[in-house]
Amino acid sequence: MEDRVALITGASRGIGKAIAIQLASLGARVAINYRTREQEALAVEQQIRSEGGVAKTFAADVSQEAEVQALVSEVAHEWGPVEILVNNAGITRDQLMARMKTAEFDAVMANNLRSAWLLSKACLRNMLRARYGRIINISSVSALMGNAGQTNYAASKAGLIGMSKSLAREVASRGITVNAVAPGFIETEMTASLPESTLTSIRNAIPMARFGQASEVASAVTFLASDGAQYITGQTLSVDGGMYM
Ligand code: NAP
Repeated sequence: MEDRVALITGASRGIGKAIAIQLASLGARVAINYRTREQEALAVEQQIRSEGGVAKTFAADVSQEAEVQALVSEVAHEWGPVEILVNNAGITRDQLMARMKTAEFDAVMANNLRSAWLLSKACLRNMLRARYGRIINISSVSALMGNAGQTNYAASKAGLIGMSKSLAREVASRGITVNAVAPGFIETEMTASLPESTLTSIRNAIPMARFGQASEVASAVTFLASDGAQYITGQTLSVDGGMYM
């Protein structure tokens, strides 16, 4: 992965941060995208540099087409075209459907699914030219199992799986792989605010009887980004302690 140009969306914290750190440790030049948390993103950049890696932060709201175009251009200007794209940015707006507002559905689709489509499209031309590319979309166990209160989120994450398979078919002959990673319950800020009763019932549904760590998701992503995974495309790799099998 030496000197490969990798763009990770939503990498200021959580799973994205762990992916950025692991890819950088394997020699990739890592573009850390963030939307609002500049200080956290700069701290990730600093950590990678202090460990001898190459990283730089890039602000962009990836739900916005113009910002996505600018982001991909800025990264290319810095290091050359994106070769490894990790669509990790995501939000939740949980609510039972009966109470969910249309705006909550739209926001989740725009941030989780549309963003990945926009970014993949923006990176694709150069990947096709180079006959090399790795696109990894961060889905969720919710896409595979469904989850009450997450009709919007599960639809967006299932959409990522369908999109990954369709694009994988379009570009398989051109050296580009497209895969999804489906984390189960991972300890991050996104999941930190759930009530103890919910945490207990989730833990009971995990055969390994523990929550996952962001670094464990990052390990699956770095594998799919590696040359060793060059014959793997259109797959969904669950990292969930056996929750979905
Ligand atoms: P997190 O801690 O909430 O971090 C999400 C990151 O995405 C933040 O850095 C956020 O940046 C960024 N982001 C959101 N919308 C963005 C946008 N429009 N443009 C740019 N950045 C944006 O979440 P996480 O737990 O690490 O989750 C990362 C991914 O894994 C998400 O796609 C999530 O759905 C998925 N996932 C997580 C779990 C889990 O248990 N944690 C399970 C399954 C799947 P700002 O804070 O600056 O907005």
